[in-house]
Amino acid sequence: HAKAAGKNTFLFYNSDMDSTGVDRLQLETDLRRALERNELLFHYQPQVDTRTGTIIGIEALLRWQHPEKGMIPPFKFIPVAEELGLISELGTWGLREACRQMVEFRKEGLSLDKVAVNVSALQFTTQFCATVKNILEETGLPASALELELTESIMMEDSHSTVRALQELKAMGLRLSIDDFGTGYSSLSYLSRFPLDELKIDRSFVIDFDKSDNDASLVVAIIAMGRSMKLELVAEGVETHEQFHFLTEHGAEVIQGYLFSKPVTADELRPLLVPGYFLEQIHAIRADTYA
Ligand code: C2E
Ligand code: MG
Ligand code: MG
Ligand code: MG
Repeated sequence: HAKAAGKNTFLFYNSDMDSTGVDRLQLETDLRRALERNELLFHYQPQVDTRTGTIIGIEALLRWQHPEKGMIPPFKFIPVAEELGLISELGTWGLREACRQMVEFRKEGLSLDKVAVNVSALQFTTQFCATVKNILEETGLPASALELELTESIMMEDSHSTVRALQELKAMGLRLSIDDFGTGYSSLSYLSRFPLDELKIDRSFVIDFDKSDNDASLVVAIIAMGRSMKLELVAEGVETHEQFHFLTEHGAEVIQGYLFSKPVTADELRPLLVPGYFLEQIHAIRADTYA
């Protein structure tokens, strides 16, 4: 479960050493330098519309190419960046980089509607809207091509300033998505109060529903609720044909998961950005059910 893993990671790094023997102080020093040294990069994971087989969006997922330790996944350093107060700086870099890459893809004539960027709750300060606005102006990306993935922890604030900030972003033309839906502890009422466009069904619900009737019922209920609230749905972490069948039959038509692609570099992504790229694979998956 993502939240539990996050908490454990946090505690883990509060001890003096991690399992690889890297001193926490060293990690802090390295992380502070990572930005200046250009060691951060994004991998991009396709979101596939199963009706057309086309990638309609990509999620930008942060990686740290450490000079000695190699590629470090986000769960190992984002909590540390949050704790050190580096997350806004890191998040601003990420927004600019994702927008820059998106503009480049579009100039190359590649077919792609939007890029989604994860936003940490701690990054969501009073400065945030102005930062986003500046980056859009600077890079020239239309606001409608940028989606922000927010977590329930942001909605939990439920203060007037949160509502105002989300409305301001919405008014600028950005797309707002709620990530890891159902894993937080916030009240569902935020779904109607906040101007959201999309709901991402968390991987933890997708993972075992073929083995558990309860998980299956939850997925069906989430899809029904999302549809009735006119939210677009994206199912995360889809790996198997069974999951594909279940989700699409119940109305979750956009799928992000290893079934289609792991997160990949910009260069690896380019050849996939052709309308209908996944159509043949989808036909084969559909044929597989009825075999
Ligand atoms: P997330 O936003 O929920 O992103 C989805 C995660 O699920 C990604 O992990 C992705 O690689 C993984 N995933 C996607 N499909 C599958 C699948 O079929 N099977 C499996 N096993 N995993 C799948 P990743 O890249 O390790 O990122 C983990 C989390 O780190 C993200 O979860 C997000 O919360 C956070 N994160 C990543 N990049 C950023 C960033 O730029 N800023 C912030 N604040 N958080 C980020
Ligand atoms: Mg996300
Ligand atoms: Mg998620
Ligand atoms: Mg997440």
